[in-house]
Amino acid sequence: MSVTETEKELSVYESMAARFDMAARKLNLDEGFSRYLRAPSRELIVHIPVAMDSGRLEVFDGFRVQHSLVRGPCKGGLRYAPGVTLDEIRGLAAEMTWKCAVVNIPFGGSMGGVVCEPQKLSQGELERITRRYAAEMLDCIGPERDVPAPDMGTNEQTMAWIMDTYSMHVRHTTTASVTGKPVDLGGSQGSQEATGRGCMIVCDQALKRFGRQREATRVIIQGFGNVGSQAARLMHEAGYRIVGVADIEGGLFNSRGLNIPALLEHVREGKSLKLFPGEQRIGNMEILEEDCDVLLPAATESVITSRNASRIKARILVEGADSPTTAPADDILFEHGVFVIPDILANAGGVTVSYFEWVQDRQGYFWSESDVNQKLEQIQVSAFDDVLRYAQKHNVNNRIAAYMLAIDRVAFSLKLQGFYA
Ligand code: NAD
Repeated sequence: MSVTETEKELSVYESMAARFDMAARKLNLDEGFSRYLRAPSRELIVHIPVAMDSGRLEVFDGFRVQHSLVRGPCKGGLRYAPGVTLDEIRGLAAEMTWKCAVVNIPFGGSMGGVVCEPQKLSQGELERITRRYAAEMLDCIGPERDVPAPDMGTNEQTMAWIMDTYSMHVRHTTTASVTGKPVDLGGSQGSQEATGRGCMIVCDQALKRFGRQREATRVIIQGFGNVGSQAARLMHEAGYRIVGVADIEGGLFNSRGLNIPALLEHVREGKSLKLFPGEQRIGNMEILEEDCDVLLPAATESVITSRNASRIKARILVEGADSPTTAPADDILFEHGVFVIPDILANAGGVTVSYFEWVQDRQGYFWSESDVNQKLEQIQVSAFDDVLRYAQKHNVNNRIAAYMLAIDRVAFSLKLQGFYA
C-alpha cells in the first residue's frame, strides 16, 4: 500500500466520506443534497497567544468545525491533543451530525480542538488556553449556535472555564453554553458515565439478539479514560467478565476476568494501569486481537484497519471511541461475521445526556439520576432498533444502516425547510 493510500485509510474525514457516499447512493440521495451534507458549513482556525508559566509567549493552533445546523444548534466535543488536525476535526464534526440524527435529538454536529499536550501543561496554562480559545470562538458558540462538550484531553473543568468566559462576555450566566460541566454549575446527573452506559445498553441489546448472557460474555476494552473506565465499571457491575483493558502505555489480560474495582482504585491513586500487579501484560494494540466476545475500543481513532481487522476475534464490536475503525476495515469485519455497533450509535449516550443537560439548563429544572438513566436507555434502545431495521430493510451492514438513517433524517429536515430534491 502506498503512503497516500495508508494516509487516506487513516483519515477520519475520508472514512466518514466513504461511508457517507455509500449510504447516499443506497438512499438515491439527490446530488445537490449530497454535496451540501458531505461538506462542513463553517470552519474556523485560530492561533491562540498564551503566556506560559515561564513568562514565555506560546502560540497554539485551534479549530472549530460546524458541520450542520439543519436540525438544530451544533453540538460537539473539544479535544486537546498534540496530533489534532483540521482533517480529523472535520471528520468528527460530520460524525456528530450523523450521531445526533441516529438518536433523533435536535442538534447538528460540530467539533473543536487545540493542538497541545495537556499532560505537560499546568492548570494555569490550560485555563489561559481555554479562556482565550472560548473568546476567539464567541461569535460562533452559544446555546443556540454551537455547544461544546468534553472530549479527549478536556474535562468538566475545561467546560466550567468556557461557560464562565462566555457568561462574562454576554453579561449573564449562561449554563446552556456548554455541557459536561460540574453538577454544581448546571451539569446533569449521570453525565460522567453516560457514554460508557450507552455502550453497555447497546451491547445488552446485541446480547439479547444473540441469546447470550452477560456472565458468559468476555469483554476487552482499549482505552481507560472517561469512556473506557466507566464502561469497565458499569459492565463489571452488571455481570460482564472484563478480561482485558489497555491505555496508551500498555494493557492487562486475564482470561478469568480482571478485578475492575481494584484496578479503578489503582488508577485513581495515580498509578500506571500497566503496573497493576498480578496480571499478564499485553501491548495496547495487541489487545485488540486477543480472544474475547465483545471488543470495546474506547481510546482513539483508526485503530482497527485493513491490516488487523481479519485478526479481530470478538463477535461483537462496540465502538466507544469515535471512528476507531477505518472504512476499508468495515468490509473485512463484515466478511468475518463481526456484529458492529458503529460509533454513531454505540457512543451516542454522551451526546444524548448532553442534550438532557442543555434541556435542564434551559428549563432551570434538574432531573434525578434515575430519570436521566431511564430516558437514556429509551433513546439508545430505540436507536439500536431503528438501525437494525434499516440494515434489514436495505440489506446493508449496521454502519451503513446508521448512516442511511441519519442522512434520511437530516435530508427530511432540509426538505421541510424548503429545499426540494
Ligand atoms: P480520555 O482522554 O478520557 O481517555 C482516552 C484513553 O485512551 C486514555 O486511557 C488513554 O491512555 C487511552 N489511549 C489513547 N491512545 C491509545 C492507544 N493508542 N492505545 C490504547 N489506549 C490509548 O478520552 P475519552 O473522553 O474517554 O474519549 C475516548 C474516545 O471516545 C475518543 O475517541 C472520544 O472522541 C470518544 N468519545 C468520548 C465521549 C465522552 O463522553 N468523553 C463521547 C463520545 C465519544
